[in-house]
Amino acid sequence: MSTSTDASPTTPLPLLVLGRGRDLHSERGVECPGELPAASDPGLVERARAAKAALGDRVFVLGHHYQRDEVIEFADVTGDSFKLAKDAAARPDAPYIVFCGVHFMAESADILTSDDQTVILPDLAAGCSMADMAAIRQVEDAWEDLVEAGVADQTVPVTYMNSSAAIKAFTGRHGGTICTSSNAKTALQWALAEKGEGGKVLFLPDQHLGRNTFVRDLGGSLDGCVVFDPHQPMGGLTRQELQDATMILWRGHCSVHGRFSLEAVEQARRDIPGVKVIVHPECRHEVVEAADEVGSTEKIIKTIAAAPDGTSWVVGTELNLVRRLATQFPEQHIAFLEKNVCYCSTMNRIDLPHLVWTLESLVEGRVVNPIRVDPDVAHHARVALDQMLALPGETHKD
Ligand code: SF4
Repeated sequence: MSTSTDASPTTPLPLLVLGRGRDLHSERGVECPGELPAASDPGLVERARAAKAALGDRVFVLGHHYQRDEVIEFADVTGDSFKLAKDAAARPDAPYIVFCGVHFMAESADILTSDDQTVILPDLAAGCSMADMAAIRQVEDAWEDLVEAGVADQTVPVTYMNSSAAIKAFTGRHGGTICTSSNAKTALQWALAEKGEGGKVLFLPDQHLGRNTFVRDLGGSLDGCVVFDPHQPMGGLTRQELQDATMILWRGHCSVHGRFSLEAVEQARRDIPGVKVIVHPECRHEVVEAADEVGSTEKIIKTIAAAPDGTSWVVGTELNLVRRLATQFPEQHIAFLEKNVCYCSTMNRIDLPHLVWTLESLVEGRVVNPIRVDPDVAHHARVALDQMLALPGETHKD
């Protein structure tokens, strides 16, 4: 099963190195009919303002926390991926939803909005390397391996929001749930209880969020986790290892958060007396274990906002957000955790020229880069999303 997205890639997009020419293979399907404004155009801000004003309530612009400042300036709301999808669903009067984020987020927004609304991704090459690490065919093959190992009946899939609509639909078809970085603990508790004693979870696609939640939040053992490598026969695991495991973690990770290191945490503690380290749960287990606080982007923002003036923080999440926090909270001392980590390159593909092009095209009556999920895929993905909303006490707290 695959999603159908107008003119969008359905295969993984390799990351482009920003500013280093063009990669025609990875940009397959990416076109900008009409003129994409030059990044050097001094009138871009004014053009964006004028186009947005001309569209009025007909357009609703969503900006993920990891977007550039130049894009966030034009966002009607900001947030994490699930909050934004719900924000979009709460504006049924807006026919056009411009999603400044990455592809899977726009898919989720399309699933949660009405058929009368069109979700637009300003640059179709804005994918997510983590979501691309779990292709639907690989996941279906993995499930067959679990069947063969005699463990599929005891296994419930739990899929992170950062996944394609096709993987969400797989989860819905197999009685599982979606989770976010805010509610992963509740989702795992529910899933492990679903099958009674001996219950297992297939956690997709971020091994770190799955491991961190199981060990840190539920008190599980690292020995209870195995990593399923989709490039190896039977995931690189023996039948016995699959039978003994409680958490079967998909071998996927975030190319940004996976780079934060324990050494950087230790260095920060040496360099900044009294510093507090706060990181995202997509970071590696040893980084999360060494941090003072762990949480979603929304939790990171709220924690820093609520801290006493003069508190020192080093933050392990995407650089655009950390820079914005440092500007917004000058009364705190805020630093980026790791000198060797940079922006999320796919998030950064959405820039002001693409936003201007998208908005001006709408003014001219042209819808560019619509994201439309196949109705059957959307139906089953919605089942898994609804299961998340039905989790005990679930209100998507951050
Ligand atoms: S920060 Fe990581 S998980 Fe988020 S969009 Fe970028 S690659 Fe994907």
